[in-house]
Amino acid sequence: MTSNLSFNRPQYLITMAEMKFHSHLGVLAAEKEQGQTIVVDLELSCFYPLAVETDQLEQTVNYAQVFSYVKAMVETTESDLIEHLAGAIAKGIFVRFPLVAALSLTIKKPQAPIEGDFAYMAFTLTASREEALSGLASDSAPGLTESLQHTVIISLGSNIGDRRAHLAYALTRLQATPGLKLDRLSSLYETEPWGNTEQAKYLNAVAAFKTRLEPISMLDLCQAIEAERGRSREVKWGPRTLDLDLISYDQLVMETERLILPHPRYPEREFVTIPLAEITGAGKRETEAVKLVKSCWYPL
Ligand code: ADP
Ligand code: MG
Repeated sequence: MTSNLSFNRPQYLITMAEMKFHSHLGVLAAEKEQGQTIVVDLELSCFYPLAVETDQLEQTVNYAQVFSYVKAMVETTESDLIEHLAGAIAKGIFVRFPLVAALSLTIKKPQAPIEGDFAYMAFTLTASREEALSGLASDSAPGLTESLQHTVIISLGSNIGDRRAHLAYALTRLQATPGLKLDRLSSLYETEPWGNTEQAKYLNAVAAFKTRLEPISMLDLCQAIEAERGRSREVKWGPRTLDLDLISYDQLVMETERLILPHPRYPEREFVTIPLAEITGAGKRETEAVKLVKSCWYPL
């Protein structure tokens, strides 16, 4: 199988080739009744999977789970066309597997009901996460868009390992969560460490999401995502693979043991205020300590 995806930087690619299923899709009544063999090829281009370092299954895309999902879709979806089936499978993969950044999916019909000699008829869909999810039904269905009525601003930071991949992972996980939709994203900045200055430089960004999740659920989610990237809290303001802070939630002012809003230390942190000014249109510039690295940085 030859690759349908082209790359300009290191990539992490999972290939699932010639998966065979029995399906009842097709335009003709005979196809629907008797069914036929459907062959699926899938290439998953992934955000950096931590499993490369940790050898842990939950830190990559589990292809056994992808296989089960594709099998269920091919065997149960009542489509006429392989185009429609491909669209449904692609969206489902992006939603279920947040590490998948782009994919190429080919659905083949070796027994297409045509007189003549051929190996198969096929349809190939190649899409990035952003393209596939931009019109996703869960957020664009009538009534649901209005329910994403809150604006939450999140600051992202990393100074260990593949820093950009950690930030991209966080964005992807947040976007894949029902009830959250990425609204605005700042450029990527490289910044001097703050607080404890004896550590490596950070990459930082700020993102605004529309959400229907409560503030404390947002904190739970952010801390779960930090943990997924191996975050530990040994040293106060010490180095971290991923730090996700809630900067603000609408105009809400609150103070509980776990959560203070707006974030109490953000006004004095230029690694937050500079990218924040960028997405709110307040027009603050980079400085010596907070340098712009890349404007369009996500997806990788
Ligand atoms: P920091 O982000 O200041 O470097 P940590 O990420 O270690 O520090 O967070 C310390 C604690 O701050 C967390 O356990 C969390 O409960 C609490 N916290 C309070 N308010 C917020 C907020 N707005 N966003 C994120 N964490 C918060
Ligand atoms: Mg934090």
